[in-house]
Amino acid sequence: MGSSTRIGDRIGRLIVAPEGAVIVGDMLSLKVCQALAAALEPRPDRNGVVSDSGNSPSDLYTAGGLFRALGGSHDLRIVDPDAVADAVDESVAVVLLTEVDYRTGRCHDMGALTATAHAAGALTVWDLAHSAGAIDVDLAGCDVDFAVGYTNKYLNGGPGSPGVIFLSEALIDEVRPELSGWLDHEAPFAFDLDFRPDPGIGRMRIGTPPVLALAALDAWEGVEMADVRARSIELSERLIAGVEASCPTLDLASPRNPDKRGSQAAFRHPEGYAVMQALIARRVIGDFRAPDLIQFSITPLYLEEADIDRVVEILGEIMATDGWDTPEHRKRKTVT
Ligand SMILES: *Cc1c(COP(=O)(O)O)cnc(C)c1O
Repeated sequence: MGSSTRIGDRIGRLIVAPEGAVIVGDMLSLKVCQALAAALEPRPDRNGVVSDSGNSPSDLYTAGGLFRALGGSHDLRIVDPDAVADAVDESVAVVLLTEVDYRTGRCHDMGALTATAHAAGALTVWDLAHSAGAIDVDLAGCDVDFAVGYTNKYLNGGPGSPGVIFLSEALIDEVRPELSGWLDHEAPFAFDLDFRPDPGIGRMRIGTPPVLALAALDAWEGVEMADVRARSIELSERLIAGVEASCPTLDLASPRNPDKRGSQAAFRHPEGYAVMQALIARRVIGDFRAPDLIQFSITPLYLEEADIDRVVEILGEIMATDGWDTPEHRKRKTVT
């Protein structure tokens, strides 16, 4: 039980949350569902939920399922990432956004959009799946209401490591969890038939924490996010400069300004799928995202200049020799 709040506080430090405001456990989709359900509850008179086309489809599927369970009267408004602020009006209960686009690394302005939502009387749910451990996040400074994240992405907990949820101090006492497990109870070992929520962030725990997976996150002990971010920018700038110099047929799809980019770099090529397969065959593992993106996630905890230079060299060779242009590399697999 204690490990989910202890590791929660450790991650909280990386995203500037006060102690006792973050807890880990469960898969991210469950945390998205939990945060969105709790964020909708104080605004029963409003049916609008604004999200954008840069959000992870997964979060939109989760929202759609939750709205059906709540009776089908909510209206999910998916707008262009640049049009979010204009879409927030007094009919909107919640603004649900993923801060960093999973494909291109484009970052939303969390502070400005949270202020826009609050001015219209709406609450915010920020998904930090591609932010926590990747960029500087300041939940307290941005006055965020709810945030969720994932330890299996840039926090490097490995596949199967759990989700994260944050509640603002102002909301912690108010939130009535929709999905309550025994460990969210004020006195779990009393095994009362009535649910009384834990007085703090423990009310969002749901189930038994994955203790072995949480042990991996001790790697963040003593790590400063500013150092990680500075290295991430150095390495991603090196990758972009190297790829642009050696691969003239690849176009940068990520923001050029590193302050507006997550810890990733994406390039466009019409045969991006085959290019990524050729890279994987040479043991450079990135992602392909349809229709044409080759995407690299940069994690400075274990990557260094030599790794970046090797990627640039191998990609340059593949592009120069059309090494991607084989039936084998064009063959579609389930995982891309
Ligand atoms: C990875 C990811 C998900 C999916 O996580 P699950 O493991 O399927 O719960 C959802 N949303 C975002 C933004 C993600 O990056």
